[in-house]
Amino acid sequence: MPETQDVLILGAGPGGLCSALYCTRAGLSSVLLDRGPAGGQINNTEAVENYLGVDYMEGPEMAQAMAAHVERLGIEVTYGNVEKVTQEDDGTFVVHTDGEDKFHGKACIIGTGSHPRYLGVPGEKEYRMGGVSYCATCDGFFFKDKDVVVVGGGDAAIEESIYLSKIVSSVRCIHRRDELRAQQVLQDRAFEKDNFSVVWDTVVEEIVGENGRVTGVNVLNKKTGETDRLSCDGVFIYIGNLPNSEPVRDLVDTDENGYVIVDHMMQSSVEGLYAIGDVRIESVRQIASAVGDGATAAVAAVAYVNALG
Ligand code: NAP
Repeated sequence: MPETQDVLILGAGPGGLCSALYCTRAGLSSVLLDRGPAGGQINNTEAVENYLGVDYMEGPEMAQAMAAHVERLGIEVTYGNVEKVTQEDDGTFVVHTDGEDKFHGKACIIGTGSHPRYLGVPGEKEYRMGGVSYCATCDGFFFKDKDVVVVGGGDAAIEESIYLSKIVSSVRCIHRRDELRAQQVLQDRAFEKDNFSVVWDTVVEEIVGENGRVTGVNVLNKKTGETDRLSCDGVFIYIGNLPNSEPVRDLVDTDENGYVIVDHMMQSSVEGLYAIGDVRIESVRQIASAVGDGATAAVAAVAYVNALG
């Protein structure tokens, strides 16, 4: 392995894997780093039905298929929890991990994804191991035949409500407005379920429990001002995501929420550093768009590295 790679790819989600595929096929050397299994968030997705050419595939199966494709080209994911990316005077990027490892590269593609936005109400942290969850696919089974609430009104909240409705006794989706943000097709599927309902115009003010387990949520109806306690065994929170851009925050321009600002070729404010998928501004956060970003950034990175000579 050369000491300075042509390209360092941070994050082995669909975007990072696709960048690795394109860079390798263009003859570039690379290191592909991730702190978890290849495939990123697809591993936590029940099934994928909206990736062109694939009618239906379970999330983990798709993650494996993508990783296997890249492995066949000789690229394995290197384990690394990236703490910081810096740049030397000669333009070389240095990726610092929380261990001893450091990686040097002529170009860098950051596809580190995003993490759940927290509600920030009392009880959320306290009951994280006792009924508060951000992943129905991971934790839904523990609530078999129980009552759960889902917080949020976007695609994730409704998709995961549908998933949970097949396992639990009842799913009440608590949404802060009188209209869901989720795609109509998901809404239609959810409302077909007898055990699914929406608590409209309502916010969760506190998650309450006993003996370390969730027993309910205190809610406020924003229109009427009425408060109530809804009994439940689990609280699934799906109110959006925040970017995992900490490693490059001191290096590149970001928007007020930390999403990396990029141009149409995925290049950040620093030449040779690209951001793809959920970590960049204005991402539609789809597998298809992450893969597209990964290909775009790789094409740009190949041109950049080749121009360096
Ligand atoms: P999202 O689209 O940003 O929706 C977040 C939801 O949470 C919104 O309904 C929002 O309410 C609500 N919310 C935000 N902050 C809140 C707070 N502090 N308290 C209460 N509610 C709050 O996020 P997402 O559902 O995670 O989806 C993220 C992206 O992934 C989207 O682009 C989505 O299309 C995509 N996605 C796609 C699929 C699919 O295609 N199958 C599945 C999952 C996700 P308001 O509506 O009032 O703003």
